[in-house]
Amino acid sequence: MTPSLFGLQAPVVVSLGTAVGYAVLLVWAVLRRSWDTWQLRALLLYLALSVLLSVSFSLTVWSLSQVSKEAPSLGLRLMGDLLTVLSPVLVMLTLWFLERPGPKWVAIVGMVWVLLVLAVDFNLLDLQRVIMGASAANSVDLVQSLRVAGWAGFSAGTLLLVAVDFFQTRRPLHRNRILFWLLGLSLTLGGELLMWLKKGVLIDVNQIGAALRFMGVIALTVATISYYLPVLRSFARQALIQVLILALTTLVISALIFGGIRLVLTIEEWRGVLLLTIEEQRFVLLLEIVTAVTAAVVLALILQPLRLLVSRVADRIVYSGHYNPARALRDYGDAINNIVDLNALSTVAVGMIAEALDVRRGVLMLISLRDNLIYDVVVLESMGALATNFATLTAASPILIALRDGKKPLTQYEIDILPEYRAAPPYERAWLHSLEMEVYVPIRERDNLAGVFAFGRKESGEPYSTQDLDVLMTIGNQTVAVLQNARLVTDLRTANVSITELNLELTESNQRLEKLDKAKTDFIEIASHELRTPLTQVRGYSDILTDMMQQGTIVPAHMNQISQGITRASIRLEQIISAMLDVSRIDAQALDIRTAAISVSVAVKMAIDNYKEAIRDRKMNVQVHDLDDLPSIQGDLQRLCQAFGNIIGNAIKYTPDGGTITISGRTLEEPTNAHPHKVVEVVFADSGIGIDPSDRDLIFEKFYRVGAVELHSTGSTKFKGAGPGLGLPIARGVIQAHGGKIWVESPGHDEEHLPGSTFYIVLPVASPVPAPAASPAQG
Ligand code: ADP
Repeated sequence: MTPSLFGLQAPVVVSLGTAVGYAVLLVWAVLRRSWDTWQLRALLLYLALSVLLSVSFSLTVWSLSQVSKEAPSLGLRLMGDLLTVLSPVLVMLTLWFLERPGPKWVAIVGMVWVLLVLAVDFNLLDLQRVIMGASAANSVDLVQSLRVAGWAGFSAGTLLLVAVDFFQTRRPLHRNRILFWLLGLSLTLGGELLMWLKKGVLIDVNQIGAALRFMGVIALTVATISYYLPVLRSFARQALIQVLILALTTLVISALIFGGIRLVLTIEEWRGVLLLTIEEQRFVLLLEIVTAVTAAVVLALILQPLRLLVSRVADRIVYSGHYNPARALRDYGDAINNIVDLNALSTVAVGMIAEALDVRRGVLMLISLRDNLIYDVVVLESMGALATNFATLTAASPILIALRDGKKPLTQYEIDILPEYRAAPPYERAWLHSLEMEVYVPIRERDNLAGVFAFGRKESGEPYSTQDLDVLMTIGNQTVAVLQNARLVTDLRTANVSITELNLELTESNQRLEKLDKAKTDFIEIASHELRTPLTQVRGYSDILTDMMQQGTIVPAHMNQISQGITRASIRLEQIISAMLDVSRIDAQALDIRTAAISVSVAVKMAIDNYKEAIRDRKMNVQVHDLDDLPSIQGDLQRLCQAFGNIIGNAIKYTPDGGTITISGRTLEEPTNAHPHKVVEVVFADSGIGIDPSDRDLIFEKFYRVGAVELHSTGSTKFKGAGPGLGLPIARGVIQAHGGKIWVESPGHDEEHLPGSTFYIVLPVASPVPAPAASPAQG
């Protein structure tokens, strides 16, 4: 080949120009972003190496023109080495771009590979002979093959990686981003492939390769640096539309022009054939002019409608089922205007928008400020299943701020890709990601975020267009008033329900207070009755004594009777007074408890002993089961005996003569505690009149007694005998001071059928825990 000066210098200039192009890309990259991440540093390295690659390429091209045979091999060698280094860097860039792990490992493997190739190239350790086992004559081929093999391996790996990612990604904008990378990658690698090839005869394939590579690297740089990439599919579609319009209009216009000319020519022909008079010739001329003008006018008239028609037809072909925004907005407004129920609003609004946009996933979320730091997000009924329908967003979250203050809907793509959203709390990003939505449309009332519409990807696979986002934003604004109304109505309904509940509670506590108030009033009557009875007895006996003294009729037998009466009356007085004192001690949390290891069985037997006479008089059948096997507990024998006694006394009092009282016990594990511990349960069951459910808790309140006071008979162990209403409060105080519990179960109060009552006492086997009602006061 005879080198012509211009023929060879032009490629040199072009490839040097490419080097400048790479340098410009590098400067642009530095200006657009700081070097703060390894990804950007790697990109800068890649661009710098590309500058060198272009320089060495132009060196090769230039040296070919210098007839020297040595120089091109230097340039080629340099190119080979640079391409070897560039390929692992491209793998790393791709991994960062796809946010996949492993760039560090690729760096290490790449470095090892490059060093190996260099070692073979410089024949360190006589590597060439080791590998080839032949003469060093083929060494250039060997090194070149190694370079190409490494390049091919890394490049194929990269392409595979991106292709797999592309097919796995379903979100349109993410997919577009990967497609963009795939395009850049294909151009770059295709270009490099051509650069490896030996120079072609007709076209310089290496030159074409360098140009392709440059275009590819531009695409890769743009993809790394910009977050918003052109949507390739709509690009392709726009191009298709343009081509269609062009083709059709050309066809119609040419037909018109052709037809017009044809007509004029035909008229001319007639003119030649027929011999026309001057008037006729004038007429024909006029006819020609009219024809031409008509054709021009028709052309002018139909051009615009034709374009419109063609673009509409093309739109229909490309965006099948595209909606009309104005109509969609009007229909939407009409549909939601009168809705006052939140769930109905959610269903109708989401359904209509989803239909217009052709999406299958959508939700309405309610946002409300919990305190100044947290927003609660509640997802209303939705289209498409969601994992969770409640979440929180922090007030400082960039996602929340963007929704509250932004001018347009927020896309999931932006949340995933833009650096400002990476500062959002990870759980917020993870939650939003899990919803599988594409776009979030704020519903704002002035500066306040009231709700958010979220929609999934379109069935067509298209990303949301700017027009879609504008329409959605308008829809968000249209929804504010309706949403606020529906929220108010819902709040009102909730308030109504809670007012009704409160009312019910109030009525209940009123009834309770009334009962307690009655208990207090009754107390005066009871106290006067309870105290006065023994006092009257004492008074009566002393009157008798005085009379007997005055009459001198004192007989020892009478004396004995009188003194026994006085003793009984004073014991009763003492009992009542000491019960009153105990209750006030319990109230003051100053009950005197002295604990020791005691047997529940002994305490119960002592308590029964105190009622021996009453049991005999009233012909009661008292049975005791399973108490001897119970473990001993830490307790105050005296106090427990008092508590059990009060229960047994009541069982006797509220069971008719001849009734049965059963006392039994068992050991249980208390499950509610974090560390399960053993308790003993003592059960006192009687066959008496029973207790009404509404009195079950009240009977443990002091001075509370069931039924009318005047119906109570006097006598502490008579059937329905009177008492001051202190027995159960004292029992409860004592049991609680031992860390235990007491409650009663009974089918109800019925003096005819005698359903009976069962009192349960549970006491811990371990040392007692001071309860709030009464605390053990030592000494
Ligand atoms: P009282 O001194 O009136 O017996 P308590 O505090 O011991 O006071 O009992 C309160 C009320 O509980 C009693 O008036 C009685 O109506 C009811 N009561 C207690 N134990 C029983 C029982 N075993 N059967 C039926 N009613 C009972």
